[in-house]
Amino acid sequence: MVNRLPDPGRNERSKKQVDKGGDQARRRSPGKDNVAKGTDQKKRQQHPNPSARVAVGSKGAAPVRIVFLGGLGEIGRNCACIEVDGRILILDVGIMFPDPDMPGVDLVLPDFTYLRENADRVDAVILTHGHEDHTGGLAFLLRDFPVDVYGSELTLGLARNRVDEAGLASQVTWIPVRDGERRRIGPCDVEFIPVTHSVPQAFATAFHTPQGVILHSGDFKIDLHPVDDRRTDLARMGALASDPGIRLLLCDSTNAEEPGFTPSETTVGATLRRVFLARPDRRFVVTCFASHIHRVQQVADAAIAGGRKVATLGRSMQKNVALARQLGILEIPDSALVDIERVDTLPPGQVCVISTGSQGEPMSALSRLAVGENRFFKLREDDVVVISAHPIPGNEWSVGRVIDSLHRRGVEVIHSGVEAVHVSGHARQGELAMLMSVTRPEFFIPVHGEYRHMANHVRLANSMGISGDRILLCEDGDAVRLEASGLHRDGSVPGGYLFVDGSSVGDIGHGVLRDRKVLAEDGVVMAVATIDLKRGEVVGTPQIVTRGWAYDDDTDRLLDEARVAVTKALEKALSAGSQDHESLNRVARKALGQLVGNRTKQRPMIVPVIVTV
Ligand SMILES: [Zn+2]
Ligand SMILES: [Zn+2]
Repeated sequence: MVNRLPDPGRNERSKKQVDKGGDQARRRSPGKDNVAKGTDQKKRQQHPNPSARVAVGSKGAAPVRIVFLGGLGEIGRNCACIEVDGRILILDVGIMFPDPDMPGVDLVLPDFTYLRENADRVDAVILTHGHEDHTGGLAFLLRDFPVDVYGSELTLGLARNRVDEAGLASQVTWIPVRDGERRRIGPCDVEFIPVTHSVPQAFATAFHTPQGVILHSGDFKIDLHPVDDRRTDLARMGALASDPGIRLLLCDSTNAEEPGFTPSETTVGATLRRVFLARPDRRFVVTCFASHIHRVQQVADAAIAGGRKVATLGRSMQKNVALARQLGILEIPDSALVDIERVDTLPPGQVCVISTGSQGEPMSALSRLAVGENRFFKLREDDVVVISAHPIPGNEWSVGRVIDSLHRRGVEVIHSGVEAVHVSGHARQGELAMLMSVTRPEFFIPVHGEYRHMANHVRLANSMGISGDRILLCEDGDAVRLEASGLHRDGSVPGGYLFVDGSSVGDIGHGVLRDRKVLAEDGVVMAVATIDLKRGEVVGTPQIVTRGWAYDDDTDRLLDEARVAVTKALEKALSAGSQDHESLNRVARKALGQLVGNRTKQRPMIVPVIVTV
């Protein structure tokens, strides 16, 4: 691992000049391959702000290709390639947590086929911020090839955990960048613009390409009162919009269905202080995302203001708190910290535990506490648990079970449905419209969202005067090409799910998942038959073995019938000359499957096992 400091020599501006002030109407694409057609033909012909100067690649300038490998159609596994002059910059390499219909899957990655096949063209990975849906896949990509990785100090610190754990530290060169820094990375200048989000030190990235500026919002909100006073740098984005102009905007769609503005992170601090003050003699356990350092800061501040000491619980919380304190992003004085092993020795009114487990993960600290299995302390009737997070879609059920268990212990549970103890880190419609208005892009592609989020974002853009021929609604695997004549679709690459199960990556296909679902829902019925091939007959009676399959109504008789049906079918096949395993298997499966299906209306997995002697 080498921590390379910013090298001024690599910061020189792009030599490729952009041709400013082209005729937009003439150069705009005809819209044949675009979506979300605008209704007002007149509107199409003009830029939303005709005074905006937009840089357009000169005729001879190289086109820019963008390939979306993940995050367009789901929340998670964000990954895109920006390609200039045949060189590739990878923007984020995230993971997705599995849906409930992916039994046994630990993680979902972007399909890395395209990157693997073009590894020699990859110059760097750029990480917009430290969330797992942007950084968690890096440790898997590094198995295939080494890379330079750029990001803020905290982002790199958070991303390193998984990489170090995977023993791949030697595959990566970490290169920290600062707010507002613009530096040459591979084929173009990349500018790192501060944005507010639910993890500190998040960036929007501006790519200064031969085709003009491509601005990627990253995950963001417009928080005017952030905990660290580091605001989304709208001024810089506005300056880029004026000179040289923003050719293409790629923008976070997570909250594009939500009207209004996301409240400031600091509103949570005020709520927490009130909640703490109202319960001065009771012990608090507060859970939030371990990477949400500003939330941790506000919990700690509220606790300390109420005369409490702070303890951290859960491995990732302890690691991240240590990292953030070391980087000077989190300020908790040593005197206010207490070891988790000592919390039971302090009066309840002097304790606040900050814990992992806000998503109801079964092995997390909060889940263990809820069932009385934490080795450091046990929850008591007078304790208060604050869940300072929303469940990620898919986790609602698990979080609900944890809340139930907490109530069973007599604990008071405060979640965002009771008090405003959580706000989102993503921009709602008001902020998205504001960003659109500040950036005045020539073209727009919604990113980071499920399809409905992106579709709503397109409507929002339409309402801001960006007509349909200037918008592309893309999905995972889609490629687009930005050139002087406009933004066009440019084919596709493999963009499907890559499943991780334990140490196996990519071995699970949709067939395996389908089998798992059948096994989970209906179980398995096996027929084990021995066949004497020389004599052409079934030896003895086939055995029927079942697992996870239930049929109460006279199961024994059905199994007897199954033995007979399988025997008959095999005998018939043998007398017709069948000798090979495959066809005998097929015959047994069909006979057993038809009988079970007709009689029970169930579809368990049918597994024939033919033994020949
Ligand atoms: Zn994200
Ligand atoms: Zn994020």
